[in-house]
Amino acid sequence: MRSGFVSLVGRPNVGKSTLLNQIIGKKVAITSSKPQTTRNMIQGIYNEPDIQIVFVDTPGIHKPSHKLGSYLNRQAYYSIDDVDVILFLVDASETFGKGNQYIIDKLKETDKPVILVLNKIDRLSKDTLLEKINIYKDLYPFKEIVPVSALKNNNTDTLISVLKNYLPDSIPYYEQNQITNKPLTFTIAEIVREKVFELTDQEVPHSLTCVVEAIEKGENSYHIHVAIIVDRDSLKKIVIGSRGSKIKEIGIRSRKELEELLEKKVYLETYVKTIPKWRDKEKYLAEFGFHEFE
Ligand code: GDP
Ligand code: MG
Repeated sequence: MRSGFVSLVGRPNVGKSTLLNQIIGKKVAITSSKPQTTRNMIQGIYNEPDIQIVFVDTPGIHKPSHKLGSYLNRQAYYSIDDVDVILFLVDASETFGKGNQYIIDKLKETDKPVILVLNKIDRLSKDTLLEKINIYKDLYPFKEIVPVSALKNNNTDTLISVLKNYLPDSIPYYEQNQITNKPLTFTIAEIVREKVFELTDQEVPHSLTCVVEAIEKGENSYHIHVAIIVDRDSLKKIVIGSRGSKIKEIGIRSRKELEELLEKKVYLETYVKTIPKWRDKEKYLAEFGFHEFE
């Protein structure tokens, strides 16, 4: 059997998590139009008879501004050296800039095969795409260049078949029916966090995390309690909204997606709690699952 680890690297917002979810066919990593949504290393597991590809979704590489930020960066670099293949994702609708040059310089330090994935091709004409391919092919000895649209699920099957050629002969790392390395509570908390992202403006999401406090599985349903943790009361107010309107909408949207994920009826309770400076407190980070390379 062929199996291996494939890391998704790229700047924030290029579509790494979107691609992962499309390939896996379920939401294992949350996505957002705001950068730095992915906080934790999430593995999405793609299974076929005799093939297992373990995709590692990393937080985007960026300049850190606080403890959580530098932790995220370390995770992104770590995953470059520890895999069989590297997928370098870029947003093909953007012009090539410093951020991508920085990553290419990092890639020069590894001897792993690197495949360039030009994402968001739904936004470009054929001619522009050809121009992009021409620019990128001279920047690094990419083994392959694969244009895709993660959002429209366009050409992702080609990406999989190309990838198979780079997988070593190995053993399965996970059960063939497993789709992620994360516990269910993690995925649930992430879905709620994604909804908070959708419904609040720029500054709110990064000062916030979500934790599943209780989960109870009934015969045909789940009862789930999720705490939304913020670092100051002013944010708590924003997340709750006037007369609870925002938290209500967060609950409605989350429940809908949780029912798709779990394929059962979901009763969801959410509440907001203030813990000042939770981001800088290792104790809380550990408690919330931000363990260093567990
Ligand atoms: P990440 O930070 O690299 O994980 O990026 P995300 O997967 O969270 O995606 C960032 C944003 O780009 C989201 O709003 C996605 O819907 C959007 N996006 C991702 N892939 C595509 C694509 O192929 N086409 C377009 N038009 N948008 C995309
Ligand atoms: Mg992401």
